[in-house]
Amino acid sequence: MREPRITQVADGVHFAESGSVNWALLTDGTAVTLVDAGYPADFPALRHSVETIGHRLRDITAVLLTHAHIDHIGGLPALLDEVDAPIHATAPEAAHARREFLEQATPLDVARNLWRPGVLPWAVHIIRAGALKPVKIPTATPFPAGGRLDLPGNPVPVATPGHTTGHAVYHLPEAGVVITGDTLVSGHPTSIKRGPQLLHPFFSKDQGQVITALDTLAALDADVVLPGHGGVHRGPIGEAVAQAKLGL
Ligand SMILES: [Zn+2]
Repeated sequence: MREPRITQVADGVHFAESGSVNWALLTDGTAVTLVDAGYPADFPALRHSVETIGHRLRDITAVLLTHAHIDHIGGLPALLDEVDAPIHATAPEAAHARREFLEQATPLDVARNLWRPGVLPWAVHIIRAGALKPVKIPTATPFPAGGRLDLPGNPVPVATPGHTTGHAVYHLPEAGVVITGDTLVSGHPTSIKRGPQLLHPFFSKDQGQVITALDTLAALDADVVLPGHGGVHRGPIGEAVAQAKLGL
């Protein structure tokens, strides 16, 4: 197992980077909310991240998903073997996690893009990480509507459709943090850019919608961005969005 890099960005807010993808841990006393869950092969790193911050897997009282791509739900089947935690997302994304439909770049989409810098080594790496495993989460359900969730960290889901139909980010108003999933990232193995940016359009259902969703992000009060891919980005989210738009 490659040890994940763990960064505490605020009281009760930890960010874990496995090298391929990221997740976040929100703690409140003994309870933990997990946001996203890595690739299937990331499960040992997921466990390690929880233990490194002084908790056990059984302290996870809920899992929130930004979206149901394999690199964000892959660790869940192994987790759910050990922990009885509810899995929540927006209503469309919960259906996506249950695999009532699939909105994900297919192996053919990836094959068509193998000529791009970094795509071939990335594809080899993610196949090893379990990218082709047919993971579905039958217990995924929508979180209650109405803003702030009564879970450790009190995250506020904000819909940002585009990367997937039901994609959401999670705003932590007291901490000034936003967990942006794949709506806004700060790097990716297939990108030569560093800093706030969008994923290549072939990864997303509707890149135009992703660009529109950036305005939703820019309106949040936050100065720490925890993306699905790339490292922590510090600075006002409005400036991060402006930087991402410059790269379009
Ligand atoms: Zn994704």
